[in-house]
Amino acid sequence: LERAKKVLAGGVSSEFRKYNHPHALFYTHGSGSRIYDADGNEYLDFTLSQGPLILGHSHPRVLSAVQEYSAGGQLFAGQHIRELELAEQLQRLIPSAEIMRFCLDGSEAVQTAFRVARAKTGRPKFLRFEGHYHGWLDNVSWGISAPDATAAGSRNAPAAHAWSAGLPAGARDEFIILPWNDLPLLQSTLAERHGEIAAVITEPVMCNNGCILPQPGFLEGMRALCDTYGIALIFDEVITGFRLSLGGAQQYFNITPDLSVFAKAMASGYPISAIVGKRAWMDQITEGRVVHAGTMNAGNPTIAAAQATLQVLEETQPYERIFRYGQMLMSGLRRAAGRTGHQMTVSGPGPMFHTGFSGQPAIREYRDTLDFDRGLLALFISGMHDRGIRIIGRGLWYISAAHTEADIHLAVDTAEEVLGNMQHNQ
Ligand code: PMP
Repeated sequence: LERAKKVLAGGVSSEFRKYNHPHALFYTHGSGSRIYDADGNEYLDFTLSQGPLILGHSHPRVLSAVQEYSAGGQLFAGQHIRELELAEQLQRLIPSAEIMRFCLDGSEAVQTAFRVARAKTGRPKFLRFEGHYHGWLDNVSWGISAPDATAAGSRNAPAAHAWSAGLPAGARDEFIILPWNDLPLLQSTLAERHGEIAAVITEPVMCNNGCILPQPGFLEGMRALCDTYGIALIFDEVITGFRLSLGGAQQYFNITPDLSVFAKAMASGYPISAIVGKRAWMDQITEGRVVHAGTMNAGNPTIAAAQATLQVLEETQPYERIFRYGQMLMSGLRRAAGRTGHQMTVSGPGPMFHTGFSGQPAIREYRDTLDFDRGLLALFISGMHDRGIRIIGRGLWYISAAHTEADIHLAVDTAEEVLGNMQHNQ
């Protein structure tokens, strides 16, 4: 850590700074469901490097595809025949992907979707939801969406805040921000303000503050309202894409957005994202009204990683298992919390889920997550870590195709032990 502080601003991953982990850890490599630190310790990994490693660490098919394509030299956007092949593959897999473009990461693809929506509608603003995260670029860094929201425990309306210094003046005015899962409020807001709104953007499952499913009818209602008012519906599938199903949340929930954004799991973490959508919207790019550039987009090794990842997912269809293991782990954690007298809220669809310490049996929207006891969560996360299990600091777990049933049992047993110790120490 001392060495890192001399060269890396902040010295260590923000996760450790935010959650006050007592140890500074640097990892050397990963394999399957495991990751290894610089001291040679092994960890069972439920972070998957913040989600992308849906096949687990160092999947051999992905590694050999990258190696093979790299040997052919580096070719980037619009130069490599494989870019076309990948687009055809995604068109086949994702229901709304009539046509698309590639970028480097989720944040860039979100901004492209905003541009397209503004260009087509001629309207200036976007409607987004409290607690949702859409990247770290300027405009979206204003809002009620910081993944480490520091808001004090309160169920009152949290104030919009900038979570970075140095943002441009006016960035906060780009957004109208509403609580999620409240269709009547969305309805009345759009009725009144649709003339200024280019797009509604949502995570189809809210994964960045708690892990919250849409209420029945909410996404359907949102779709209908966007149709009524000629507003673009943007699904931010950076987390849900290739995780809930090969066609993302839009396939899982059977709702067709106008534009959507994929990244993370698409290429096992190699830097590529996609903005996909209906021609009627994407024509803004086709016709050259919206510029889409980027020297390093769609490089052939990253395309190779994406093709290999998607091929393995298609061939092996691990989704039934990923859901089953996720749900098995969720119920095991609930049981462990019950036995040790902790009030733990475990929420999410299974392939990803959230654990938080709160008296609330169910969470519906961001404000419900403000009651979580962050101190207890930090104790839990570091207790698990000390026993060789990694979870994302804000309480999010990801399941990969490399996890085994034995991994799930190990995590449940370890959690029970950690929760038991926390109880005795209170
Ligand atoms: N949208 C969502 C829903 C995300 O979870 C993230 C990243 N966690 C992003 C956008 C930004 O993606 P990236 O970090 O690849 O820029």
